[in-house]
Amino acid sequence: MSTPIVRLAVFGQPVAHSLSPRIHRLFGEQLGIDVEYSAIESGVDELPDRLAAFRGSGGTGANLTVPLKQTGLKLCTRIDRPARQAHAVNTLRLADDGWHGYNTDGAGLLLDFDRLGIDPAGRRILIVGAGGAVAGILGPLLAREPACVHLINRTADRAERLAEKFSHLGTIDGAGFESDPGSDFDLLIQSTSAGHADALPPLERDWLADSAVAYDLNYGPAQATFSRWCGAHGLPVHDGLGMLVGQAALAFEIWTSRRPEMAPVLAALAGR
Ligand code: NDP
Repeated sequence: MSTPIVRLAVFGQPVAHSLSPRIHRLFGEQLGIDVEYSAIESGVDELPDRLAAFRGSGGTGANLTVPLKQTGLKLCTRIDRPARQAHAVNTLRLADDGWHGYNTDGAGLLLDFDRLGIDPAGRRILIVGAGGAVAGILGPLLAREPACVHLINRTADRAERLAEKFSHLGTIDGAGFESDPGSDFDLLIQSTSAGHADALPPLERDWLADSAVAYDLNYGPAQATFSRWCGAHGLPVHDGLGMLVGQAALAFEIWTSRRPEMAPVLAALAGR
């Protein structure tokens, strides 16, 4: 007897270049689960109708990407703690009472940290940027008990408000680019979207310890400018492809109760 097809999709705008369909098909092949995963273009206003149509055609699980992660929250009957903390969902699962919402971005980053041997516990962490992705990672990151997290952002107010929102979970503060963040940071997380325009946030090597490492949430061409800066300053850097695959592996587990291996999928994507 053949197993039923698991019908999944990613919704976003733009979504045509998303790697998610390929990643989830590879997960399905790896675990012998028949997965149909499509990319569905949707703006904020269309999401309720598009999601209802997807459900009507047998869809049982979805990813939401830019600009739908906050809108999706309102369409859920239940949400998990990371989604509540981030005020955003990236994963939906159909349950008897409607869509349940999850945010696997932060846990996905930590899965990649584990793979790379980066342990945030007791570390001084500098995060550049204070957008939606940072909101998604702060809860799970602070749960690993870093010594401190300092956010700097082009719009100072956004970093200050985000730090304030998460201050009950650990030692965290936020400021603008013009501030001096201090020194001896062990881990630099680059989370701005500046690289999409070949731009680089203002950074100083002096802020970081000699043994520091950097992690860019971006991958592909959007990571090139920051990667060059790291190279010029002798700073080892990892890109965000592992986070993408990590958050996807956790979403796949939510839908199928099976956690796929990240390594073969990362290897396949590296040869893309
Ligand atoms: P947002 O639009 O919510 O935030 C963008 C952030 O980048 C803000 O902090 C913004 O600052 C800053 N920024 C944009 N342009 C510049 C610039 N020229 N100079 C300095 N700062 C700038 O985006 P997200 O937080 O959702 O995503 C951030 C990046 O992370 C994206 O490139 C995205 O592709 C990537 N990402 C990767 C994931 C993965 O799985 N690997 C998951 C999620 C995101 P300001 O507040 O001043 O506007």
